[in-house]
Amino acid sequence: MKTIGLIGGMSFASTVEYYRMINCEVQKRLGGNNSAKIILYSMNFQEIKELQFKSEWEKLGEILSGAAIQLEKGGADFLLICTNLMHKVAPQVEKKVSIPLLHIVDATAQKIKSQNIDKVGLLGTVFTMEEEFYTQRLKKHGIEVVIPEQQERQEVSRIIYDELCRGIFLDEARKKYRQAIRQMKENGAQGVVLGCTEIPLLLEKTEIPAFNTTQIHAMAAVEMSFN
Ligand code: GLU
Repeated sequence: MKTIGLIGGMSFASTVEYYRMINCEVQKRLGGNNSAKIILYSMNFQEIKELQFKSEWEKLGEILSGAAIQLEKGGADFLLICTNLMHKVAPQVEKKVSIPLLHIVDATAQKIKSQNIDKVGLLGTVFTMEEEFYTQRLKKHGIEVVIPEQQERQEVSRIIYDELCRGIFLDEARKKYRQAIRQMKENGAQGVVLGCTEIPLLLEKTEIPAFNTTQIHAMAAVEMSFN
């Protein structure tokens, strides 16, 4: 079994989920007292968030690369960045290590295609919904992307930072997310990518098939750890 290197803490609410899901799946597959081999490097999300809002992506790339180097030195066989947004700096991180990085968009795209869906809605931070690092990568896999309108995007993103990443899950937020999904469905989305690793903690059921990026990424990690 390979050792999984997790770059987490963005936020810790979802990193806990990665840790739980990966271990449960390994135990399910191997039985007994088996659990996953994991090394976790957990960030202080306040520092990360402040740099995001100052558009300090170069600096963020350096911080994540530093973590990746430590994980490689510690014996990790491959890496996961436990957030959708921070894949914006994935190319920078990949250049600094010799172990592979399991990209969240690639894992999610495979899952979408396995369900014969080629047009999805996307929920996440404003950066994830609006910038090309995420949507273009889905498009390269042959998947079209629909996003909410500008005002809704702002609100979806605000809720991520002010509530979900702090472990706050409110009915009001649930309603707003459902409304955004309805709107994207009207615009042709056959499924919705929960493109922020905390959103699945808010939304259990959705009107159209949901792609839980946390779970998809965690399961892909288990698969990779056995190959
Ligand atoms: N966890 C979120 C994501 O998957 C947002 C937190 C972050 O800014 O990295 O995008």
